[in-house]
Amino acid sequence: MANAIGLISGGLDSILATRLLQDQGIEVLAICFQTPFFDSQKAQRAVAQLRVPLRIIDISEDHFQLVRGPKYGYGKNVNPCIDCHILMLKRAGYLLKRENFDFIFTGEVLGQRPMSQNKQALQMVARESGYEGLILRPLSAKLLPETVPEREGKVDRGRLLDIQGRSRKRQFELAKRYGIGDFPDPAGGCLLTDPAFSRRLRDLLTHQGEIQVRDIELLRVGRHFRLDESTKVIIGRRKEENERLLELAHEGDVVIKVEGYPGPIALIPRGFPKASIEITASLCVRYSDAPNNIPIGVLLEKDGREERLESPACSQDICQALII
Ligand code: SF4
Repeated sequence: MANAIGLISGGLDSILATRLLQDQGIEVLAICFQTPFFDSQKAQRAVAQLRVPLRIIDISEDHFQLVRGPKYGYGKNVNPCIDCHILMLKRAGYLLKRENFDFIFTGEVLGQRPMSQNKQALQMVARESGYEGLILRPLSAKLLPETVPEREGKVDRGRLLDIQGRSRKRQFELAKRYGIGDFPDPAGGCLLTDPAFSRRLRDLLTHQGEIQVRDIELLRVGRHFRLDESTKVIIGRRKEENERLLELAHEGDVVIKVEGYPGPIALIPRGFPKASIEITASLCVRYSDAPNNIPIGVLLEKDGREERLESPACSQDICQALII
């Protein structure tokens, strides 16, 4: 019996690609990848209905190098999709060799994404990964060159499909036929495709040399303001975000909150210039329930030491000018 490694995002296409191969009696090991930008939740949900084992591979370190400087550039946001696909296929290929699998497959559909799923890009990605010929895309296989497992008779090409383009009609029909009702929306899942997150990440890449996982985690929380070349401030928008900011606070950070009124937590990672404290205090007052027209008491804490100062709220114009 042939066996294959499937790159499972958890979306409908990867579920269908797996079902097509399972119909041919092929044994599947699902793999998915995780980084601070995307996780394995959707894949975990998918394998529960596919009844295949799942291996979750953390590629954070290598992936972040790509985000900083992708060889093939970014998509619409800070998403280096072509480089990312190459990296994922390389990792899958390493597993294929080490554990003697016959081939790798993905749920990619020709022409579904104009930049990363046109014929040229699919072939280039396969070539660059070093596993060209061993990468099967069951949903579009009949429109692509024959792969080694098809040539060797491990996969029946006649039972693969010729789907292409952005319409999802055929996938939905197939899902109905297989009785698959539970699949996530194809959009979302990778923060690098989110315009607001991408803006913040671009700002971080521009202003900070050494970036740690915590810096990425912080990008997911609150409103972000750039105060100067080396200082930014993050302000929680609701209770859970305030709690998350406190969880993520490190030694050396400044935490600011308004005294006596409900209001946000403001966090200045690694920062302490006096000017940044004053403007952060005024932002904090602005987003609190305190009156906006009088100076308000603000508490500042750094490494266990507390200070108190008074600050008026900053104007809406200043907020707009500083927000990332
Ligand atoms: S959307 Fe994100 S996870 Fe998907 S290929 Fe692009 S960078 Fe990679």
